Amino acid sequence: MSHIVVTGGAGFLGSHLCERLLGLGHRVLCIDNLHTGSRDNIAPLLSHPDYRFVEHDVTRPLVLEEQVDEIYNLACPASPVHYRSDPVGTLKTSVLGALHTLDLARAHKARILQASTSEVYGDPEVHPQSESYPGNVNPTGPRACYNEGKRCAETLFFDYHREYGVDIRVARLFNTYGPRMLPEDGRVISSFIVQALRGEPLGLFGDGLQTRSFCYVDDMIDGLIRLMAAPAGAEGPVNLGNPREFTILELARQVVALTGAASELVFKPLPGDDPRLRQPDIRLARRLLDWQPSVELDEGLERTVAWFERQLGLARSRSAT
Ligand code: NAD
Repeated sequence: MSHIVVTGGAGFLGSHLCERLLGLGHRVLCIDNLHTGSRDNIAPLLSHPDYRFVEHDVTRPLVLEEQVDEIYNLACPASPVHYRSDPVGTLKTSVLGALHTLDLARAHKARILQASTSEVYGDPEVHPQSESYPGNVNPTGPRACYNEGKRCAETLFFDYHREYGVDIRVARLFNTYGPRMLPEDGRVISSFIVQALRGEPLGLFGDGLQTRSFCYVDDMIDGLIRLMAAPAGAEGPVNLGNPREFTILELARQVVALTGAASELVFKPLPGDDPRLRQPDIRLARRLLDWQPSVELDEGLERTVAWFERQLGLARSRSAT
């Protein structure tokens, strides 16, 4: 049994990760300030004897007396709606949060994994993006608080590794979806599903021909756990995501078909710095971790739609039709 700290453990990915780690027989300490996470996400875990929740903001130092073997650093608002509403707070969480969790790892000689993001590639000029691509990020744009915060966090991770010998793993996560996404957080899959289930028009940015790849949450959690377990030399960064590429228009049509919605598609102006193409090159993860996603988009969407139907109280009305 390892003693594992998960920052951001009450969020979408963090709560799935804690659940999986408990299932593997580990002891889990979840640290979260509930900014975008929720007690609902962790309610089923609170009675587990090996689970503990501590409400804490990672922009403040983290000192723990107990044993710590591994740390997953996931704390950070991840959706544009949230990080744009508090850009300075987002930067502080990324940078100071990384600093404080790295100090914790150093003090406990724990291995630490950073949940970085495909956003470090910005609006990429190469396609698909491999880990060696340094990115094309606008440091003063509206997404910069998130992109540059995550880039600086990566720098801190590698400098703590080189200067202090901290045992690090850096994962670059691409778009991930599944149950427990927030309905109103502006991420494309949750937005489309909620709009379709409510019979509202689906809002597409630009011409809808920009591409994204979507990874189901179970696959992503599997990748993170494998990366944490990988032997020395696997510091990364390692792309984790689903390389199957879809246009936003294809996604919208698939959601409409799956929900049976009568929603029309409406096209809106592209927001600033919206990347046109985004597709992970996961050859490194395949080689290093023997990992690749296994859940197809239609299967993952179906599970996510079913969850949102329950959340929105629509399950009965839909099954009755
Ligand atoms: P989320 O918003 O659901 O989870 C983030 C969690 O961090 C929330 O529970 C929130 O309350 C907590 N948090 C935020 N600021 C904090 C602070 N200052 N102190 C303590 N806790 C704080 O987002 P998610 O989708 O679960 O993302 C988790 C991580 O994965 C993030 O770091 C995100 O950047 C990264 N990521 C996610 C995706 C994705 O598609 N979901 C893609 C790339 C990277």
